[in-house]
Amino acid sequence: MGSNPHKHLARVEVDSIYGGPLPFPLCQVAEDCLESFLQLQADLARAGGRLVLSDLFRPYYLQEELKRRKPRLALAPLRSFHCAGRAMDVTLGAVGLEYPRLREIMAGHHWFPLLSGREPWHFQRTRDVGPGRRFTSVAEAVRWVSNDR
Ligand SMILES: [Zn+2]
Repeated sequence: MGSNPHKHLARVEVDSIYGGPLPFPLCQVAEDCLESFLQLQADLARAGGRLVLSDLFRPYYLQEELKRRKPRLALAPLRSFHCAGRAMDVTLGAVGLEYPRLREIMAGHHWFPLLSGREPWHFQRTRDVGPGRRFTSVAEAVRWVSNDR
């Protein structure tokens, strides 16, 4: 129908590992995370670093493709915070800050790495997802931004 498959997303300008700004459609966050994202960028800059990403928002079809290529590493789209516009993969070597400092600044804006300690570059914003929160599940958060499913 030519309608946008996505909603409730805000476009951001952020450096990427690809040698320029993160391209569309990756360069989007859930609209209710925009303020936190912008403050995070500003705080990292104030601390002498900069936010550089390889991934942010991932459309449903891209996550499906990733899941096909890396079935053991990638999550199904309805389980991925990336598909909800609530996760980012930080290019750690380009940030210019020690990891503990990065984590501290991230945490100040409610972006956290996985509890498992796997994928230390992956930060997600979980505070609105879970029992009694804004979204009861990741799937619900994904559906809020995506008309695909
Ligand atoms: Zn990730």
